[in-house]
Amino acid sequence: MATDPHSTPGPSEPSGTSRDSVEDPIHTISNLIAWADEPEDDQFGDSDNQLIQVSLGVASGLFYSLQAKHFPTAAHSLRVAKMCSWWAVALDLEPLQRDQLEVAALLHDIGKIGVPDFVLANPGKLSADEQQLIDRSQEIGLEILSTCCDGEEILELIRCNYAWYDGSKKHGNLSGTSLPVEARMLAIVDAYDSMTVDQIFRRARSNERAMAELLSFAGTQFDPQLVRHFCEFITEPFPRETESPRKWLKVLSPDEANRRWRANMNGAIPSKLRSHAPFQESLFRNINDAVVFLDLNLQILGWNQGAERLTGLPRDAVEGHPWTSELLGLTDQRGRKFQPESDPVRVALTSNVQAMRRLSIRNAAGNFVSVVAHIIPVKGESGEGMGVTVQMHDATSVESMEEQIQSLHYKATRDPLTGLCNRAEMDRALVEMVQRHTTAGKPCCVIICDIDFFKKINDTYGHQAGDEALIGFAKLLEQYATTNDMCARYGGEEFVILCPNCDNEKAAALAERIRGELASKPQTALGGKNMTASFGVTELQRGDTSNSILNRADRALLQSKEMGRNIVTQIGSGMKEAPIGDRRSWLRRLFIAAEPEVLLKRAMKTNVPLNLAAEKIRGFVADHRAEVLKVTEESIKVMVDGDTLPLQRRAADRAVPLIIDLHFSQIKVDNGSQHTKVEISIAPRRNRDRRKRDAIERARHLLLSLQSYMVAYEFVDTTVAAVDEHPSWWSRLWGSSRKSKAESR
Ligand code: GH3
Ligand code: MG
Ligand code: MG
Repeated sequence: MATDPHSTPGPSEPSGTSRDSVEDPIHTISNLIAWADEPEDDQFGDSDNQLIQVSLGVASGLFYSLQAKHFPTAAHSLRVAKMCSWWAVALDLEPLQRDQLEVAALLHDIGKIGVPDFVLANPGKLSADEQQLIDRSQEIGLEILSTCCDGEEILELIRCNYAWYDGSKKHGNLSGTSLPVEARMLAIVDAYDSMTVDQIFRRARSNERAMAELLSFAGTQFDPQLVRHFCEFITEPFPRETESPRKWLKVLSPDEANRRWRANMNGAIPSKLRSHAPFQESLFRNINDAVVFLDLNLQILGWNQGAERLTGLPRDAVEGHPWTSELLGLTDQRGRKFQPESDPVRVALTSNVQAMRRLSIRNAAGNFVSVVAHIIPVKGESGEGMGVTVQMHDATSVESMEEQIQSLHYKATRDPLTGLCNRAEMDRALVEMVQRHTTAGKPCCVIICDIDFFKKINDTYGHQAGDEALIGFAKLLEQYATTNDMCARYGGEEFVILCPNCDNEKAAALAERIRGELASKPQTALGGKNMTASFGVTELQRGDTSNSILNRADRALLQSKEMGRNIVTQIGSGMKEAPIGDRRSWLRRLFIAAEPEVLLKRAMKTNVPLNLAAEKIRGFVADHRAEVLKVTEESIKVMVDGDTLPLQRRAADRAVPLIIDLHFSQIKVDNGSQHTKVEISIAPRRNRDRRKRDAIERARHLLLSLQSYMVAYEFVDTTVAAVDEHPSWWSRLWGSSRKSKAESR
C-alpha cells in the first residue's frame, strides 16, 4: 500500500495540501479540529501555534522550518498529531504516552526538509532517483532528530512508524504487537490523513474509501485491531466536552517540553544531511565495489551496500565509528598487519596522496580475500582537506585471472614433456639475445644437441622409456646450464641452450661437461645402458642474425654426427674475428693462413701416472710415423701425414694431414695413486681440408687409436683434482727445448 506514493497512500508519501480542497469533506475531521484554529494557506492559527509550542518547546523551530520548506507537510503533521492525541485519549493511553505520540506525530515528516523542492512539487510519477530522495527523507528526519532529541522513545516511535505490522518491513526485529502501540497508531493516522487530503499528485479520497483501504491493509501494514477501532472512532462525532488534549490550550510550560531536547555535542552526520544529487547517491548505493567515506578524524561517514556485502559489517554498526585497520582485518598482500601510523588510509589522509594498493581484508564469510583498494584524499572547493574515500574491489577474480594468464603463458611457452622452454619461446629469446649482444658487442653462444640413435632407443626400450630418457636429458641440461642460460626443447630429441655473456670456449666447455656426464651415466629408463648426444657450439659473430647463428650451430652438430657422434664440435671464431671494415686485418685474413679449426676435442683419463702415459704416446708416434712438431712441459703436438690409416679407399686419395695436440695433467685419486688426464684436440693442417669427409673420419680413427694406446677412457670431472706441475722426466723424455718441424718450415 505504501510503496508507490503516486498511486497509493502510505506513511512515506509527501504530505497533502490543505483540507480546503478536499472533494468529499470529512465531517469527523471537521469535528476533530473544531477546537483548534483552521490553518491559513501557509500559516497556523494561534491555538495551533500554542499546541506546537507546548509540545515541542525549543524544538518548535524544527517544525517551523518544515512549515517554511513545505507547508502541506507541516499541516499534515499537525493534523496527524491532533488526531493521534484525540485517539490516544479514546484508547485511554497514559498521559506520557500521549505526549510522546504527539511529538512523534508533529515531527515524523521532518526529513522532508532534505528533499529537493522539485521532488515535492512534482505532480507526476516520480522517477527512481526522485523516489530514492523521498525514501531517504525518513533517514534524514531521524538523523536531524537524533542531534537534538533526548527522548529515545520518540525516535523509536518514528522509526517504528515505517515498520509493517506483519514484519515484511522491519525495524530491528520488531513486528506485530511488539511494535509500540503509539507507532502502530501513528502509522494508521498518517496513512488516513494522507489519503483523505488532496495531494499534489492525487485528489483526496473519500472517508469510506480511505477506511476500506486501511481495512484491506489490516494485518499486513497495520494492526488489524487498531484499524477497526480507528474506523469506529472516526465515524463518531468529536466529543467536545471530554478531557482531551486540553494541555495544548493551557498556559505554556516550557520546562516540561524542553526536557526532551538537548544540545548534541557530536553534531549530525553530514553525509546524510547533505543533499546529494540523485545520481551520486544512486552511484554510492548501487556501485558493486565497497565505498567508504571518512572524515578528517577518520570517523566513518558513509558505508555503502558494496561495503556491507564485502565485509559483512552492516552500515549501522560502523557509521559514526572511528576507522581502524582491525575493523576489516586489513593487512598487506603478504598478510602483515599495519601499525596505526602505517595504515594506508591514515597515510593517504596525512600525506594527501592517493594510493592504489593490493590489500587483504576479512570478508563476510570470515576468510581473508585480496582487494584492490583505491584510497583518495578528498578536498573541498578551496583545497582544504575534508576526509578520505576508500574504494575496495574484490580482487579474487582478478587474482584467479592472473593465475590463469600465468598458467596459459606457461603452457604457451613450455614443452609439456620436459618442462623446458619450447621452440617458439626459444626463437623469441634467441632474437632478443642476438640483438642485445650485437648492440653491446658482447659474446653469446648457441649450443644445439641431439641425442644419438634415439630412434633405436625407442625401438629397443619403447616409447615410454624414450620419453623418460628425454626428461632425464632435459634435467641434465638444466643442472649444468647457468641460471642465465635458457634450455629449450627444439623438437623431438633435439635441444638448444642459449648462453648469454658467454664465449666459444666457455660454451664448448659446458657442452663437453654435459656430453661427458651423459655418456658416463647409466640410464635407468634404458635398463642401465648409457646413451650419448652430439653437440654443436657457436658464438655470435658480426653480421649474425638469429637464423645465421642457429644454422651455424646446426652445422657444427652435423659435423659431430658425421664424426661418429658423442662429440662436441665448435665452429666460427665468434666476436674475436676482426671487423670487416678493418683493412689491415682484411689483408691479414687474405695473406696469412688462418689457424685451422679444431675437428675434434676430447678429454681422456688413463689410470697410469704421467710417465707411463707419455711412454704409450711414444708408441703411438712411432707406429703412426707421426712427426713431433712441438713439445712443452705439459703438451706435445704431432702431425700424422696419413698413410698409416686404412682409410684410403682409392690409391688416388690423398691423405689429409692432421695435427694432434695433447695436453697432459697429473691427477691424484683418493687411494694416493696417480692417474693422468689427457686433453686431445685434432685439427687439419690446412684449414681448407676442414670440411673434407676424409678429415673427419681420420680424426675419429686417430682418436680411437690414441685411446687404445693409452688404455684411456672418457674423462669425467668428479672426484679428481688436476695437478699442473710436470716432473723432470718429462723434458728428458721429449726434450722440451726441441724446435718443432712445423715452426722451422
Ligand atoms: P641420430 O643419432 O642421427 O640423431 O639418430 P636418431 O635416431 O636420434 O635420429 P632420428 O631423427 O632418425 O630419430 C629421432 C627419433 O626421435 C624419432 C622419433 O620417433 C623420436 N622422437 C621424437 N620425439 C619423441 C618423443 O617425444 N618421445 C619419444 N619417445 N621419441 C621421440
Ligand atoms: Mg638423434
Ligand atoms: Mg634428431
